[in-house]
Amino acid sequence: MTCLHDRHIKPLILADLDGKNWHLEDYVKRGGYESLKRIISENMPPEQVIAELKASGLRGRGGAGFPTGLKWSFMPRQFPGQKYLVCNTDEGEPGTFKDRDIIRYNPHALIEGMIIGGYAMGITVGYNYIHGEIFDAYLIFEEALEEARAAGFLGDNILGTNFSFQLHGHHGYGAYICGEETALLESLEGKKGQPRFKPPFPASFGLYGKPTTINNTETFAAVPFIFKVGAQAYAEMGKPNNGGTKIFSISGDVERPGNYEIPLGTPFSTLLELAGGMRGGKKIKAVIPGGSSAPVIRGDVMMETTMDYDAIAKAGSMLGSGAVIVMDETRCMVKSLLRLSYFYFEESCGQCTPCREGTGWMYRMVERIEKGHGKLEDLDVLNSVADNIQGRTICALGDAAAMPVRAFIKNFREEFEYHIEHKHCLVPAYI
Ligand code: SF4
Repeated sequence: MTCLHDRHIKPLILADLDGKNWHLEDYVKRGGYESLKRIISENMPPEQVIAELKASGLRGRGGAGFPTGLKWSFMPRQFPGQKYLVCNTDEGEPGTFKDRDIIRYNPHALIEGMIIGGYAMGITVGYNYIHGEIFDAYLIFEEALEEARAAGFLGDNILGTNFSFQLHGHHGYGAYICGEETALLESLEGKKGQPRFKPPFPASFGLYGKPTTINNTETFAAVPFIFKVGAQAYAEMGKPNNGGTKIFSISGDVERPGNYEIPLGTPFSTLLELAGGMRGGKKIKAVIPGGSSAPVIRGDVMMETTMDYDAIAKAGSMLGSGAVIVMDETRCMVKSLLRLSYFYFEESCGQCTPCREGTGWMYRMVERIEKGHGKLEDLDVLNSVADNIQGRTICALGDAAAMPVRAFIKNFREEFEYHIEHKHCLVPAYI
């Protein structure tokens, strides 16, 4: 795993890099649990904790980029029954591999962030749903929980106060759809992991039908640092409306794939340079900047873009989970789309018709083009199928399947047309 130690960029979340000193003792030596201690010892009003988060500009790091402080303020404080806090570590988006490293290298930052969340929203029980394929991370998380409990940071009467918070780990079984928040809740309840209709939203009807706040692993892990450095300082690390640092999982045709924590607003060219540049000095062709569901962007456009929510949206895509997939000039765009289309076809839960039927239809059409049996009209039909999926399904997987199709055809139409006309790829490596 790679992270930044130079260039005046201080890594916050992935501070611990050797994979051995993630234990409580090391975390405390690095100033861990100081934020929690201060909040509790100063008896900081929960409203103030939430106000600080709002001032920090922290936005959800799981994909949607929703302001975290605002989300926390939706939790009804006076609700008479049980409320829940849930962490989404069901990291299954192709290209994303940051949350597993947060748990492997700095699990107590996540635990401390969740305890602070419990305090701020008056929640006494939390769960962390961890992707099934990263069982080693689940075991580390369980061990870290034991350490936190033994030290009095977690459990009943935290640090001798009347604030109690119980936190449990739960591992999934490998379904991509369980990363969707309501499917995750269903799975956590022991049911088949299928998304629920929204509304009602989890803030009012979540786990076991109770008010629930769900955040991503990186979001929670950022919280202790915000209270350590101060909301203003954290916000100023990024740019307006894009506060703080963000971990980018960069993969594909670069020399040094890995996780890089950089301030939001950093030029993409700097991130690429940190990852060692293009592998073998090849030319950049395309970038998927926010996980496989984010629309692909042409390489030259990406080189002029900064890594933040607003700039990536302006470039026609989304920052998503921060999984940056870089493709060089030798990559076939039709083959790349085929691979993505197959993934969404395979992972559709089948609940709604546009997604269940549409993902298969798109996959088969792209496969036909790739195998040299396509027709020019197929491109219009593909766009039309994507149009009829997007915005017409229960959850965002339908959109996630449709967006790559539209973006690949829009940005690389000449490659698709060449494939259809010549019955093979224009990239020499694939002929
Ligand atoms: Fe299931 Fe797809 Fe409908 Fe989501 S959009 S609920 S994955 S069928």
